Amino acid sequence: MTLQHQADLSKRNTLGVPSWAEHLIDIEQDDQIPGWVGWAQQNELNIRVLGGGSNLLLDNRVDGLVLAMRTQGRQVLGQDDQGRTLWRLAAGENWHEVVRASVEAGLSGLENLALIPGSVGAAPIQNIGAYGVEVGDRLHDVEAYDCRTHQWVRLPAAQCEFGYRDSLFKRWENRYIITAVTLALSTDFQPQLSYGPLQALAHNPNLSASLVMETVIRLRQSKLPSPDVIPNAGSFFKNPQIDDAQFQRLKADWPELVAYPSDDEWKLAAGWLIDQCGLKGQASDAGVGCYREQALVLINPKRAEFLDVVTWQRLVQKAVANRFGIVLEREPRYWGSKGSGQFE
Ligand code: FAD
Ligand code: NAP
Repeated sequence: MTLQHQADLSKRNTLGVPSWAEHLIDIEQDDQIPGWVGWAQQNELNIRVLGGGSNLLLDNRVDGLVLAMRTQGRQVLGQDDQGRTLWRLAAGENWHEVVRASVEAGLSGLENLALIPGSVGAAPIQNIGAYGVEVGDRLHDVEAYDCRTHQWVRLPAAQCEFGYRDSLFKRWENRYIITAVTLALSTDFQPQLSYGPLQALAHNPNLSASLVMETVIRLRQSKLPSPDVIPNAGSFFKNPQIDDAQFQRLKADWPELVAYPSDDEWKLAAGWLIDQCGLKGQASDAGVGCYREQALVLINPKRAEFLDVVTWQRLVQKAVANRFGIVLEREPRYWGSKGSGQFE
C-alpha cells in the first residue's frame, strides 16, 4: 500500500481512455480510509472513489486523490424478519462473481443482474439495473464512511433514495465512501421475466435462478462488447424520461417509437433514437463510435483520448436533438481536473 503520484488510469477505466491521476492509493482495508481522507482534506485535494472504472469518462488529468477500493470479504449475517438471507459484501468484491456465487448457493434475486462489470461498492451508486431488476430491490443496507462528518454510517435501503439509475450517493458524489453492502436474498425463487428476451423462459419446465442467470449472460454476450476486447462503458446515455404530452407528439410523428411506461412518465429507448439517426455501427476517424449490435454503447477500440470520445458524444447528442428534440444525458460519471474546464 503506497501512495502513487501521476498514477496511470488507462487500464483502470473500461473505456480505455488514457488518463493520469494526481495521486492514487489502493485501499485494502476499511481502516485506511479515515487517514487518507484526512490527508486529502488537509491538502485541499478532491477525493474520488474508484471501483472497476466501468462507469467513468476520464479526462487526460484527474486531480486530487483517487481511493481505489480493493477490500474483499463475504459474510452471511443470518436472516431478516422475512426469512431472507442477509449477505454482507465488501466494496471491492467483483459484482458478477457475487451474482454467480449467490445463485450457486441456492439464493435468488440477483440472477437478472449477471455480467454487469464493476464492484459491489459501486452497485448502489447508480442503483444498477438490468432486465427489470434493480439492486435497490435486493439491498438491506449500505455501510459507508461519511467524508463530511468523519463518521461511519449504515443506511437502510429505504434511506438510500433509490430511483431509476439514481441514488442518494450519486447526488452526494464523493461524500460517502461505500465500504460494504448487505443484500437480502431469498431461497424462494420469484422469477422476473417481463423483458422480451426472458419471457419464453416462463414456459420452461427447468426454470430456475441458474437458468435465468445463464440466459442473461448469453443475451449480454450476444449484444454487448466485452470491455476486455473492445473498450466501452456500457450504455453511454440514459434512457430519457418524458411526459405523456411529449410522448403523444413524438408517437404521432414516429409510430415505431420504442417506449415503456415508467412511473407517471414514458421511458424512451435511447439506443433506438440513435439507431434512427443512422449512427449504429458508425465511428469517427479516431475509432470512437456506436456499437453495431447496440447503438447505445459507445466503443473506443483504439483507446482514443478523452476529447475524441467527447466529440463523438456531442455528435450523437446533436443528431438525436435535431431529429427528435430530445437531449440525451450521459450515464458515465466525468472525472477531470481544475485545468480541464467544466465538462458536466
Ligand atoms: P466505477 O466506474 O469505478 O465508479 C462509478 C461511480 O461510482 C463513480 O462515481 C465512483 O466514484 C463511484 N464509486 C465506485 N465505488 C464506490 C464506492 N465504494 N463508494 C463510493 N462511490 C463509489 N450498469 C447498469 O446499471 N446496468 C447494466 O446492465 C450495466 N451494464 C454494463 C455493461 C458494460 C459492458 C459496461 C462496461 C458497463 C455496464 N454498466 C451497467 C455500468 C457499470 O458497470 C455499473 O455502473 C457499475 O456499477 C460500475 O461499477 P464500477 O466498480 O466499475 O464503478
Ligand atoms: P434491450 O432489451 O434492447 O431494451 C432496450 C431498452 O428498452 C432498454 O434500455 C430497456 O430499459 C427498455 N426495455 C426493454 N424491455 C423493457 C420492458 N419490458 N420494460 C421496461 N423497459 C424495457 O436492452 P439491452 O441493451 O439488451 O440491455 C438489456 C438490459 O441490460 C437493460 O435492462 C439495460 O438497462 C441493461 N444494460 C445496461 C447497461 C448500462 O451500462 N447501464 C449496459 C448494457 C445493458 P432499461 O435500460 O431501463 O432496462
